[in-house]
Order: sequence, then structure tokens, then C-alpha cells
Amino acid sequence: MRKDTALLTNDMLALWDRENFFHPSTHLAKHARGETATRVITGGKGVWIEDRDGRKLLDAFAGLYCVNVGYGRTEITDAIAEQAKQLAYYHAYVGHGTEASITLSKMILDRAPAGMSKVYFGLGGSDANETNVKLVWYYNNILGRPQKKKIISRWRGYHGSGLMTGSLTGLGLFHKKFDLPLTQVLHTEAPYYYRRADLSMSEADFVAHCAAELESLIAREGADTIAAFIGEPALGTGGLVPPPAGYWEAIQAVLEKHDILLIADEVVTGFGRLGTMFGSDHYGMRPDIITIAKGLTSAYAPLSGSIVSDRMWQVLMQGTDENGPIGHGWTYSAHPIGAAAGVANLNLIDSLGLVNNAGDTGAYFLAALRDRLGAHANVGDIRGEGLLVAVEFVQDRDTRTYFDPADTIGAKVAGALLAEGVIGRAMPEGDILGFAPPLCLTRAEADEIVGRLDKAVATVFG
Ligand code: PMP
Repeated sequence: MRKDTALLTNDMLALWDRENFFHPSTHLAKHARGETATRVITGGKGVWIEDRDGRKLLDAFAGLYCVNVGYGRTEITDAIAEQAKQLAYYHAYVGHGTEASITLSKMILDRAPAGMSKVYFGLGGSDANETNVKLVWYYNNILGRPQKKKIISRWRGYHGSGLMTGSLTGLGLFHKKFDLPLTQVLHTEAPYYYRRADLSMSEADFVAHCAAELESLIAREGADTIAAFIGEPALGTGGLVPPPAGYWEAIQAVLEKHDILLIADEVVTGFGRLGTMFGSDHYGMRPDIITIAKGLTSAYAPLSGSIVSDRMWQVLMQGTDENGPIGHGWTYSAHPIGAAAGVANLNLIDSLGLVNNAGDTGAYFLAALRDRLGAHANVGDIRGEGLLVAVEFVQDRDTRTYFDPADTIGAKVAGALLAEGVIGRAMPEGDILGFAPPLCLTRAEADEIVGRLDKAVATVFG
């Protein structure tokens, strides 16, 4: 690609980009007017990426928290090339498979929490969660409970941006002007102690408050109308927030009492990010379905999955005995190239010890951030689990007064950090700067991020 396009100037690419490319999650008008930059990324190695100007940037968000093994791993690119040469595509309908897809399904189940039974493959997190809702509805129809269909999600949860999954996502930006959320979706309290608890509330009281909110929502709607609860083990896009201690135990007690299924959306947390293979293991969750994507292939090829529990699987099988083959399938389910990437990626995660590294280097990174920035007047909270870490900026840390969103402080810090050569992510709601680097991050690289962030913070706050 690079050779063929070497004569193109950056200005020419930027023009083509503005004239032709409809970017996701982008201010369309500003970009079309050339008020936001076109950034052309050309290469990557480890935690570093390079742009077309030859500038090297430390990618402390692993793309969109997905390039978990880091950039440029030939173990995966070779596996992709070999699979593409041997067989680039065959479908998975009516019992078809490839060596890669069958092997990967076994590798996933070998690593999955107890009680899981089968994996259905999709392409990305959004379509996997669409699958999950359909499976939950199918399940309740087979059990003769056609009214038990609503899905509860949390404010600030992120589950995708399709029709159903955009509804499940609990961030206003993803609903506004799209006529979402759909009516079958309900939202409840976010497990976000720092922002949602009032100053006098203990963590235990806040957990009890979250469980009570859920109870009262269920009472209002009727437990016989509610099919499932979906949640990320630790909140991702909504703010990168590990739950308060005891949260999942309290929520699961409510769900189990009302026979409501639990979908653990592990698109971000699956395959090591929190320092355990799955976030469900980390927090003692007992999910009926687990959503996986991103870290499954480290984004070297698109692939996602819905891991269903044995309890659900038994009912799904009964459904096909009664009704014929399940009426659900994508052309690209279990795509061989994605599956080959997945096999090589999971092997690499094991051989490099990346799950342990996420825990160890994550703890080191968090401690270093607290050490350097913990006393800063505008730093309200520094939190994290494994390599999912956030710094939250506030106007006044004692009264916990937030900045006016119009001031876009989070984006300003992210911009200043980029000027220092590090990519962090300004999360969509609140002045939260997120870090989710590749799981191969070293302590020296963690120090590099902290040092440069310190400078960026000084630039913004003086
Ligand atoms: N679930 C979670 C927890 C996510 O973070 C994301 C994406 N950031 C999705 C689902 C949607 O995945 P995708 O963008 O691949 O559709």
C-alpha cells in the first residue's frame, strides 16, 4: 500500500478523506469542513504506532482497547496469511467449519468461566450483543414465557451502537436523534461510586443503593416481563470504573431471585485486561452469556463471540427440536481468517504471560499515576484494575465539583498528552482520561506515560 501511494501528499489524502470517508464517532460537519485533522496511521510495533509524518506515538489505548498483544506481531499476521492462502472463506452454516474455527471454539471454552458450554461467532461486539438478546428472547419463548423480554442495562454501560445494542448503551450521545432506546430496554444505576454516591455515602451503602434501585425497577415493571440484565464487569466507555466491592454479589442476588439472566459483556475485559482471563472470574460473576470481541483476536481481524452457558444451551437445543434449525446466522460467522487470528492470538497471550503482566504492570502503572498526580488540585479520582485505568479531572476535588462540559477539559488534557506523544482517550461523558494500553506494556513504558501525562496536566492547568 505504502509503495503505491508514496507519491500522494498528506494534503491530497486529507482532501480525499474529507470528500469521501464517512467516519464513525466523528463530528461530521467539522471534519467535512477540515476543522478536525485527518490522521493517517501507517505502522505499529509493540505499544507504538507511527503516522504518515513519521511521528511515533505511544498508544496507551491500544486502538480502541483492542490491540491487546501490541502491534506488529508476526505470529498472528503469518497465521492470517497462511489461512488466507489455504482457504480465505467458507461458511459455518449447517455444521460446516474450518480447523481454525473449531480449534478456536475449544480454546475459548477451555479458558471460559465454569458453566459455559458453546460459542457462537460474530464479527464485533455490537453484533454479538444483538445475538445475545435474540438468544435470550428465543430462550424465554421456548420456556413458554413470551412476556419475559425486557433487558436491563446500566446508565453509562456500553454495549454497541446497533438498534438494540445502541439502546442498551446507557450514554445519551448514542440515543440522541436516533429514536433510541427501543421500548424493550430499561436502564438502572451505574456502579460508579465516585460520581454517583453522595459524599457521605460509604461504598457498602452505595452498593446497597444500586441493588435497591434494581429491585424497585423490577418491582415497577414486573419480574415476569424482564428477561436479562447486561453489564460490563468493570464499566468501559462510560468511564472506566471498576465496581465497588460486593457490587456483583448484590446484583446477582437480585437477578437470581427474579429468574433474570445475566449477560457479562466482556468485549473489553475478556482475555486478560483486568489481570484475569475474564472479568467474570475477577468479580465472581456467574453469567449465562459472555460477550467477547476485541481481545479475542487483538483486533488483527474482526471476530466476536457469544459464549452461552450449559443451562441456556439445553433450552436452545430443545427449541430446535421443536422448531427446526435456529433462524440466526451471519455470512461471516466464524470467518476462517478471524479464527486463525484468534488461535494465534490466544497462544501468544499464553506464551507471553500477558494476563499476569496486565495485573502486575497495571498495579505498577496505577501506583505511579497516584504517586505523581494524586495530590493535584484538579485530579478527583485515579482508578483502575489491571490495564484499565482512568484519571478523572474536577474543578474542585474537595467538593467534587465538575467542570462545565462545554469546557471539554478531558479532551484538552488528551490533546496536550497527544502533543507529548502519548494517546489516551477522552471518554465521552465527564472529564475522564482513559488508559487501556496493550497488555505487553512494560514498567518503563508505564513510566513514560506517567511522565508525559504530568507535563500535559501542567500545560492544561498551569
Ligand atoms: N461492548 C463493549 C463493552 C464495548 O466496549 C464495545 C466497543 N467498544 C462493544 C460492546 C461494541 O463492540 P463493536 O464496536 O465491536 O461493535
